[in-house]
Amino acid sequence: MDFDLGEEHKMIRDMCREFSRSVIVPRAEEIERTGEYPYDVIEQMAELGMMGIPFPSEFGGSGGDWVGMHLCIEEVSRGDIPLGALLDVTTSVVGQELYSFGTEDQKRKWLVPIARGEEIGAFGMTEPDAGSDAGSIRTTALLDGDEWLISGTKQFITNIGLDNASIIVITALTKKAVKGRGVISTFIVPKDAPGFFLGKRYEKIGWHGSANHQVIFEDCRVPEENLLGDPTKGFSQHLAVLQTGRISIAAISVGAAQACLDESLQYAKQRTQFGQPIASFQAIKFKLADMAAAVELGRNQYLKAAWLKDQGRKHSFEATVAKLYASEILEKVASEAVQIHGGYGYMAEYPVSRFYKGAKVLQIVEGTSEVMRIILSRELGL
Ligand SMILES: Cc1cc2nc3c(=O)[nH]c(=O)nc-3n(C[C@H](O)[C@H](O)[C@H](O)COP(=O)(O)OP(=O)(O)OC[C@H]3O[C@@H](n4cnc5c(N)ncnc54)[C@H](O)[C@@H]3O)c2cc1C
Repeated sequence: MDFDLGEEHKMIRDMCREFSRSVIVPRAEEIERTGEYPYDVIEQMAELGMMGIPFPSEFGGSGGDWVGMHLCIEEVSRGDIPLGALLDVTTSVVGQELYSFGTEDQKRKWLVPIARGEEIGAFGMTEPDAGSDAGSIRTTALLDGDEWLISGTKQFITNIGLDNASIIVITALTKKAVKGRGVISTFIVPKDAPGFFLGKRYEKIGWHGSANHQVIFEDCRVPEENLLGDPTKGFSQHLAVLQTGRISIAAISVGAAQACLDESLQYAKQRTQFGQPIASFQAIKFKLADMAAAVELGRNQYLKAAWLKDQGRKHSFEATVAKLYASEILEKVASEAVQIHGGYGYMAEYPVSRFYKGAKVLQIVEGTSEVMRIILSRELGL
């Protein structure tokens, strides 16, 4: 067993850590306050190759692996959770779906610009009446000559509001159910397809720098060749890539929790009450000790899941544990970080307040904590 990161992994981690510290951290509060999308930061992330780490160079990537990708996601999220979420969606979900299930032509056309970060991808599974029960979607795709005619609405879609978001990979029913559920296929829908409409931008508690919108398809036409992968397995394709998305949500959570720990340690050493630094009180020390233990366990678990994926081994149990554990500990860690900061922790200019607001939704996206427990129960044969 070897818990040491290799040289290449250390290089990626250190580069992303330095980028996060020098570029993201100084901008994060302003991004959250204004809600303006940080195109300049995203462009620099693309120039550093962050969006293409796990893909081969022939498809615009750098030939790395999923351990490297997730170290990058952790470090980026240490500066800003929504930028970690951007990477999760465009690389771990959309890029991977194109890479795993796309034809050679589809990969050249759609994956290359996404892996290079010139364009950003979005994925659309959730609908107004289909969230956790993602198999109950109503969006339809019917073949009309050599084009698919897509109708329906997807909601809460991350990244799609960015000017350089080029495609959304969606699930749609291609055959209505005769008995049980219909057949679900996956489609690549360019944002400039006729009949594609960008719906409202959501007003959220946090994540103001994340471009979440509703998406409406009104007889939206895409060429027949935009069907992605096996037409009868669109749903399982989406679920397969979401396993990696779960490792990414865990890495985001660990990055944010690490930032909460760092901020709290520093603050506790310099804040004086009753004539001594608050770090000298056992009540504060124990909070910091619990935070450090949680970060350590969350990191080990997401790295194990990413490593198993890189070995081509089954990793659904490990990825689900990582997502469930890391997103739940983040809420607690962020809450304790605010507590350690006292009243200052509730002020917008203190990073811990931003992490506190941004934490909760990680227990909801890409499968809620309840859904994670359902998956784990199944793994236990229950
Ligand atoms: C900021 C944000 C970004 C998002 N980005 C995307 C995106 O890019 N693409 C996309 O497709 N979706 C996205 N989503 C949607 C997200 O994946 C869904 O919100 C999530 O899957 C839950 O679905 P729901 O909101 O419909 O909740 P529901 O499924 O209605 O669940 C409501 C509650 O019921 C519980 N519940 C449901 N079923 C069961 C059950 N069988 N047993 C026990 N409890 C159950 C849930 O756990 C939850 O607590 C995003 C959401 C948010 C908030």
